[in-house]
Amino acid sequence: MYSADVVKNEFYTTATRSGLEASEVAVLKKSIPGAFDLRKLKKNETMRLVVGKKSGKSRVVAYTLSTSKKKFVAYRVSDNNFYLMSDSAQFASLTYPKPPSARISSSFSPARVNPVSGKTSPHNGIDYSMPMNTKIVSVTSGTVTKAEYNKTMGYYIEVTGNAGVKTRYLHLNKILVKKDQLVGQGSSIALSGNSGRSSGPHLHYELLMNDKPIDSLAYQPQLRLGKLEQHVYAHIQQYEQYLD
Ligand SMILES: [Zn+2]
Repeated sequence: MYSADVVKNEFYTTATRSGLEASEVAVLKKSIPGAFDLRKLKKNETMRLVVGKKSGKSRVVAYTLSTSKKKFVAYRVSDNNFYLMSDSAQFASLTYPKPPSARISSSFSPARVNPVSGKTSPHNGIDYSMPMNTKIVSVTSGTVTKAEYNKTMGYYIEVTGNAGVKTRYLHLNKILVKKDQLVGQGSSIALSGNSGRSSGPHLHYELLMNDKPIDSLAYQPQLRLGKLEQHVYAHIQQYEQYLD
């Protein structure tokens, strides 16, 4: 029912041989990470296609793109788009990469006495005290879903990654990204500050999974499955033998 095809040097000859129409190629091309040039794959790059037939037409249902360091696996799901999963992203650490100038000043705690208000309230993140205007980086790749001011959180950013993971960066001095912008893991998004309800220059870093706050320092990297991934994984078994 499915067949595998290995791409040699460039993608388009294989696409033609597999009987893929231009519209199929376009859907696939949209999902390719920018570092890959399908017209000329580098020596260390390998691509494998899993092709099936639907109503007499060839259809790519999954593909892998590997380099010596990374392997991307893309699966097509019912919305007709490909979803890319990189092995490294699924197992990435979600702790904030603490700069040498920073120290942890407050830990994750479900019932903490707020140092400013004196009231008991959950502390849903980790505070890293650091000098004003320290470069703040995004822990995950994803889309900036919030980049705004709030009188409690101050200037803050929320990045929505895949698999239900969100990260938040609070009390910033300067936001360097815009809402809906795509950011990479480790890319600069802001300068730290003391805005909002804050008792001194620090970064409040928050990790949420399916909108539930998680202690990022206690979190063990593992395969995280969001709704989409669960859906995709349900389809994987039928392709898997073709992907190795
Ligand atoms: Zn905090």
